[in-house]
This record gives sequence, C-alpha cells and structure tokens, in this order.
Amino acid sequence: MNGLMMQQPLLISSLLTHAERHHGEQQIVSRRVEGDIHRYSFRDMAGRSRRMANALGTLGMKPGDRVATLAWNTHRHMELYYAVSGAGGVLHTLNPRLHPDQVVWIADHAEDQILFFDLTFLPVIEAIASRVKTIRTFVAMTSRAHMPASTKVPGLLCFEELCEQHAPEFAWPSFDENTASSLCYTSGTTGNPKGVLYSHRSTILHTMASAMPDALNVSTRDCILPVVPMFHVNAWGLPYSACMVGAKLVFPGPGLDGKSLHELFESEKVTVSAGVPTVWQGLLGYMDGNDLKFSTMRRTIIGGSACPPAMMRSFQERYGVQVLHAWGMTEMSPIGTVCTLKGMQAGLSADEKMAVQAKQGRAVFGVDMKIVGEDGAELPWDGKAAGELLVRGPWIISQYLKGEGGNPLVDGWFPTGDVANIDANGFMQITDRSKDVIKSGGEWIGSIDLENIAMAHPAVAMAACIAAPHPKWDERPLLVVMKKPNAEVTREDILAFYEGKIAKWWTPDDVVFVDAIPLGATGKMQKMKLREMFRDHKLPTA
Ligand code: ADP
Repeated sequence: MNGLMMQQPLLISSLLTHAERHHGEQQIVSRRVEGDIHRYSFRDMAGRSRRMANALGTLGMKPGDRVATLAWNTHRHMELYYAVSGAGGVLHTLNPRLHPDQVVWIADHAEDQILFFDLTFLPVIEAIASRVKTIRTFVAMTSRAHMPASTKVPGLLCFEELCEQHAPEFAWPSFDENTASSLCYTSGTTGNPKGVLYSHRSTILHTMASAMPDALNVSTRDCILPVVPMFHVNAWGLPYSACMVGAKLVFPGPGLDGKSLHELFESEKVTVSAGVPTVWQGLLGYMDGNDLKFSTMRRTIIGGSACPPAMMRSFQERYGVQVLHAWGMTEMSPIGTVCTLKGMQAGLSADEKMAVQAKQGRAVFGVDMKIVGEDGAELPWDGKAAGELLVRGPWIISQYLKGEGGNPLVDGWFPTGDVANIDANGFMQITDRSKDVIKSGGEWIGSIDLENIAMAHPAVAMAACIAAPHPKWDERPLLVVMKKPNAEVTREDILAFYEGKIAKWWTPDDVVFVDAIPLGATGKMQKMKLREMFRDHKLPTA
C-alpha cells in the first residue's frame, strides 16, 4: 500500500522560492571585489537569479551542462548557485588557489562550457583561456564600469550587463530530483583530482540535516558569515541552509585577513561563522594583537582539519564564542559529524567537556559510520580501538565522475581514508589520515594528538607531525614547528612540554623549526610536502 502524500521532487530551486516567499526581506551583504559593500534582500537575489537563469539560456546552457565559477564568496556567486542548478545545469566551483595547470586539467575533465570569474582572477583566466578545451564563454563577475579596458580573453562578457539584458521572470523547471546539481573536485593529494557530483536530492537532504540544532544549528535569527569558500565543498552547504532557514548572510569576498573579517563581523552583527583552523588563526592573531572582542558572535563551526583544543579554548574562554567541531569530506557534501554535547554530559567539568569537544563529534541523522580493523572486521566503540572510518548515507558519493578510480565502495560503505575511534556515546575522533599515520614498531601514533599538544604551547603558531624514517622503529614522529612572530622557544622546551601529557613513547624524537608550513588549496597542512622536505632528516638516536 502506498502512502497518499504529494510527490514533489527535492529541488534546489525550492530553497530560493521558499526564501523569497517567506524571508523576502532578509538581507545578504557582500564585500565585493570592487571594494564596496553591497547590500540587498533575498527577494532581490531571487529576481537576479532568475535573470541569470534566462541569461544562461541565451548563452546556450542545456540541462546537464557544466557551468564553472572561479570566484570568492559574494552575492553574485550566490546568484549563480541558484541560477545554474535551478535551471538544470551543473555548477562547478573551481578552486582558484590551485595551480593554473590544475585548473585547466579539471575544467577539461569536467567539460565545462561557461566560466564565470571574479576580476581578481583575470590574470589566471588570460593565461588559461586559450588552453581550456571546452569552455566557449567567459563572463567577468562585475559591472560595465569595472570591465577591463582590454583583455586577451576572447568575447569576454559582463555579468551585470547579462543581468540587465534579461527579464526577472523565469519559471524554475521541475525534473527528477536525482539530476546532477553541482560538482566539486577532491584536492588530489594523491593522483589526479576526482569529480564529486552532487544531486538536487542529496543537496536538499544534506541541507535539512545540516541546519538541525545538533548540527550547524542555524535559524532565521542568525547572521551567518561563511569564511569557508563557496569553492570548498559549497561552503559546507551554508548558501543552501541560509535560504532554507531564512538567515541573514554576509559574504566576505576576497577580504579574508583578520582585520577585514573582524570589521565585517562587528558591522553586520554576525552570530555564526564557519571555516578551517588556519583562517581562524589569522583572525585570532589579529584580535589578540589589537585587544579586540566580538560583540555578537556566538558560534563558529570549525572543520576541514582538526581544530586544536588551544584554539577552542581561546574562542570559548577569551571571546565567548562556542566552537562546533565538525568533520566531513568533499565526498560527503561535506557534513558527517558535528560535536555537540549530549544532555547527560551537562554535568561534566570544563576540562572534561573540552576533551569531548576536541573530538570530531556524532553522526548527524542520515550518516551512518563504523570503524574497521585491517581485516575489515568492525571494531568496538570504546573510544580506544582505532581503525579506518567508513560511512554511508544519501549525500555520500556512490562513484566519482566518469567512474574514475573504479568502485569506491566496500560492501556499500565509503572508506574515508581517515583513521578514527568512536566512544560508547557515539563520539568519533579522527586520529589521523591513513596516509599520514606514523607507524612506530608496528604501533600507530596519532599525529593529530601530538600537533594539538604542540599548538597549546604559547610560542607555537602551527605544528605538523610527520613520520621520519628510523633504523630501529621504522618510523618515529618528527615535529615541524612554525613559531609565533617574535616568540622564542627551543627544541628542548617543546619536548619538555609533552611530559605528562602523553605516553612517553609517543613523544616526538625531534623538533625542527620552519618559517612556514606549506598549506594546500583548502588551507590544510600539506604533510606530503613536509615528508619530502624532511625525507633525509636524521633523527637523534638515543
Ligand atoms: P581534501 O582535503 O581531500 O581536499 P576534503 O576537503 O574533502 O578534501 O577533506 C576531507 C578530509 O579532511 C577528511 O577525510 C579528513 O581527513 C579531514 N578533515 C575534515 N574535517 C576534519 C576534522 N574536523 N578533523 C580532522 N580532520 C578533518
């Protein structure tokens, strides 16, 4: 017997229609590439998205065509999020921090047809325009007045002109909810990047789950500033969830330095933000140095790499901002777990709470997870046994674009490449990425734990722990440290700092200092590069 409920496909356009109808007055504020602050409403945004949907039709976008962006977080990028997917195209957010050769490779692989870009990236576009195979139209995301006087990009179009030339009336089409909506590539730390193709259905389900109180916890009373770029897994879904709940949105554009961010947090009364730990380091450094406070910020979502407890303490104890530690992947749309305490943990001491918060958290409804040993057998949830983390759910990849890499699943589960433990309350903690694991005498040493301790040292700005070859133990931990500006600290000070905090045999064998730790295109420490740099490092033999 079937239920007797309406059959409505889950489509991204419904988020926009809802936002316009029920939260039409809500504001979207953007710091633009042109340098000004732009301000309008969801109602305005919806109208301009429809104009852009008409423009895409004129430009020849057919259902399923890939439309690429190379852009910051701004209102124009948001308009494209809805115009492209809503009209049946596939929004492909390219990462401008990648090397131009990689951008060309990815755009060719995706067979992008149209490319929208912020003026910041004009030099990149000029360098690649004649090299990309399938892109036939380039659009600069600016007004006529700011268009370059001359350019090597053939037939360059102007975003604002396209908007003006097209009518705001457009009926969003209805189609199968399993239709592809957007595309992101993995970073390709090993091998070529692979395409992750989201659907309308997966996006809507992810949006619903991500907004829940025990997930990102966003509502119409919030003002959200996504620091996480819209080219990093769709800014963790915030451009969708803000429409779903009717939250005010503030887009930082290219201004991701501490000063620009802090100004915007204060002037727009931001309550919620999200980003990777490295970007918060810049902001907190600026605020510490200038003795600044937040007056409205209440929560920040930190993920993408492990949030050091020292950063959590700083946010929570010094600035009164609650940290929500979250974990996910491009392959997971991205949200898998978020760390919010359970009711029964209310009575824990501050230190005990912090120990829970340092974990990556509990699975949101829709995501199931398990950890397995080397033989594939499931491991107990005791907070100790660590194994590979596998996940499944309706917003988790079933295969990569064009079947690259073959079938990624094992018995219907997606192996994440992360090593984790899960405690009896269901809190998952990542101890490492499997390719970063340090194996000393056959036993794993969790590099994230060692980094977290080092980063609690007042003189340490950033620390990465990598495996260095060792004649007896195969591998031993080597700690690579970037000091805070003007701070003084020695190898011995740091090694002494580990005493009593960790099993003695986990203590790094050596500490080296570097001017900068290499970061990847999404702000993560590039341990592969560090391993290459210190391939011949001789550990002191005790
Ligand atoms: P990539 O870094 O491969 O481009 P993603 O941005 O999809 O891709 O990153 C996913 C990976 O980032 C996860 O598999 C995990 O290793 C790491 N990661 C994400 N969030 C966290 C977190 N909170 N703590 C530790 N690692 C994390």
